[in-house]
Amino acid sequence: MPVLDVASFALGKWIHPTQDAARPIESAVTGEIIARAGSGALDYQSMLDHARNVGGPALRKMTFHDRARILKAVATHLNDNKNELYELSYTTGATLSDSKIDIDGGIGTLFVYASKGRRELPDSTTYLDGDVEQLSRHGTFVGQHICTPKLGVGIQINAFNFPVWGMLEKLAPTLLGGVPAIVKPATATCHVTEACVRLIIDSGLLPEGSLQLITGGVGDLLERLTPQDVVSFTGSAQTALKLKSNPHLLKSAVPFIAEQDSLNSSILGPDVTVDAPEFDLFIDEVVREMTTKAGQKCTAIRRIMAPEHLVQPAIEAIETRLNSVRIGDPADADTQMGALVSQAQRHDVMTVATQLEDEARAIGANNGLKVHGADSVAGAFMAPMIYHCADPDKAELIHKLEAFGPIASIMPYRDIDHACSLLNRGGGSLVASVITHDPNVARQVAVGSAAWHGRIYVNDRVSMKESTGHGSPLPHMLHGGPGRAGGGEELGGIRGVMHYIQRTAIQGSPDMISAIGETWIPGSAQVTAKAHPFTKTFHELVLGETLVTEAREISIEDIETFAHFTGDTFYAHMDEEAAKANPFFPGRVAHGYLLLSFAAGLFVQPDPGPVLANTGLSDLNFQKPVSAGDSIRVHLTVKRKTPRNEDYGEVRWNVELTNQDDETVATYTLHTMNVF
Ligand code: NAP
Repeated sequence: MPVLDVASFALGKWIHPTQDAARPIESAVTGEIIARAGSGALDYQSMLDHARNVGGPALRKMTFHDRARILKAVATHLNDNKNELYELSYTTGATLSDSKIDIDGGIGTLFVYASKGRRELPDSTTYLDGDVEQLSRHGTFVGQHICTPKLGVGIQINAFNFPVWGMLEKLAPTLLGGVPAIVKPATATCHVTEACVRLIIDSGLLPEGSLQLITGGVGDLLERLTPQDVVSFTGSAQTALKLKSNPHLLKSAVPFIAEQDSLNSSILGPDVTVDAPEFDLFIDEVVREMTTKAGQKCTAIRRIMAPEHLVQPAIEAIETRLNSVRIGDPADADTQMGALVSQAQRHDVMTVATQLEDEARAIGANNGLKVHGADSVAGAFMAPMIYHCADPDKAELIHKLEAFGPIASIMPYRDIDHACSLLNRGGGSLVASVITHDPNVARQVAVGSAAWHGRIYVNDRVSMKESTGHGSPLPHMLHGGPGRAGGGEELGGIRGVMHYIQRTAIQGSPDMISAIGETWIPGSAQVTAKAHPFTKTFHELVLGETLVTEAREISIEDIETFAHFTGDTFYAHMDEEAAKANPFFPGRVAHGYLLLSFAAGLFVQPDPGPVLANTGLSDLNFQKPVSAGDSIRVHLTVKRKTPRNEDYGEVRWNVELTNQDDETVATYTLHTMNVF
């Protein structure tokens, strides 16, 4: 097989490694050199300039929705072409099911960000964070936080274990946020990342300059960063420390997100018995985490905790299962566990395993390695290994050393407090799981250990069929953890986008804030609608355009008719004495829903027209009771417009109901869908 040259992609061109700078990449399965990568010929400053001057402006011209649509198209394109990635991925030791976690998981992350971007972010270049703050007595000076994309580059340095997901889980929020990226995968598996980047670039879907790739070292790239750039690193704590303590990064306050190693744990609840479904579930989770990706997962279970009387049954069950795991050629469909990424990685894992033996006893499953369809010496194969630590309070190393391979230690705990104290001795982890059918146990573990963990995963007989697994970071939920896990946060839906966004407090008059945020706010100019706004198309409506309706008096008959028609005969509407005794009401009052119904009757224009549907209302507040004899009128104001597809968009209307004394009695936001 010819040795692949793994190229970098810079300034719109593929650049091959120079002979002198090339680093060899070995097949995890055969040990042969299959590729070489190196970045000797790259001009890092030009790459940064290209991203900042070409990619960034092109992305920032687009709205969040435009960028979300691109993510969806890229995800679809990768999905249609993923088979070639699976093929390459075998050379990293990954089985097909490992690759699905990496490749399909990465594509799925793009899809989720595409969808969240359209649903949760505005079709605008800015994003409003929180409500308007009243900063003055008369309302002429207000404040709001706005979010705009950073003007720099996302520098993404990734670990070897997920060459595709590791890139896409960072790329999705970066591009959605409007920031270009330079990706630097780990050399050991960068040939898979390169193939994925080629697919993306060849699709022509991304604007020029928004994605570049470095295979090999980063040279002095970090020295050239500014506070508008963001470094997002995944890898060992040791490399993270070295990179984040770079004096230039510190001096220039360049944001640095670190996702490091982690000693994740799983607890078997004290309520579980050996014949309960939770016992088998626990064993399944442990064995899956130890063997998927040959244990090379940042979230894999490294410490297994069981009540004292269940340690031995758990050891026996885990051992039986591990002994039946078929290890071998990852391309063989029957293989359950492939190889580690390289001989060097296996050597590192074995070294840590030897150190663990000072505190824990290696148990039977560690005997012998049978490899099917591949050479057990040339390939980086190893058997899963389990250690029993009888005294976890005295132990130090099992709470400190990460063996990034198929290795875990099992230990007893006395009660939940003890289990939590052991969990927390990991010094900050990505995830802890608890397998229990008792909600009190789940709560005690969450409260006792959440502060030291980025994610708590609870599973039992109810959720086990649909749960996604202890080790799966999901794009909707935070991934990261405090302390030794790096203190970083990634994913978590739109939270992950916010790393690439600057939040800025904007202060000024309501008109200024409305214009900057492209959203009408109370106190800013209202333009009296000449024609009824429901007769205007989406594009004809202007922010601040307002309809003020006629007034309508509420009678006692209206209240009674509404009460009997709907069945809502609550005493505040029907019984004068009882209503008076209530501190909120002067006597019988109109139903809030009656006011909303009358409001619709006042502002609606009944003929077929550009308004297709009322899709909801939000932020409803009833502020003052309305009694029989009072009258209400409606002020309907165009607040925000968001295109939804080629044909129509959502209009949000500020609705204010006032009484005969011009006092506000209710406010809400009405949502309609209007044709263009
Ligand atoms: P690593 O050796 O620390 O390398 C991580 C990345 O840093 C690689 O791309 C590596 O590139 C790069 N790197 C190393 N030295 C560098 C330098 N001086 N300047 C710039 N970049 C440099 O980690 P790994 O062996 O790839 O990954 C395994 C570790 O990652 C484990 O500890 C695991 O727990 C952790 N991990 C954490 C997460 C998470 O989300 N928290 C996810 C996956 C893995 P080269 O390969 O070219 O050296």
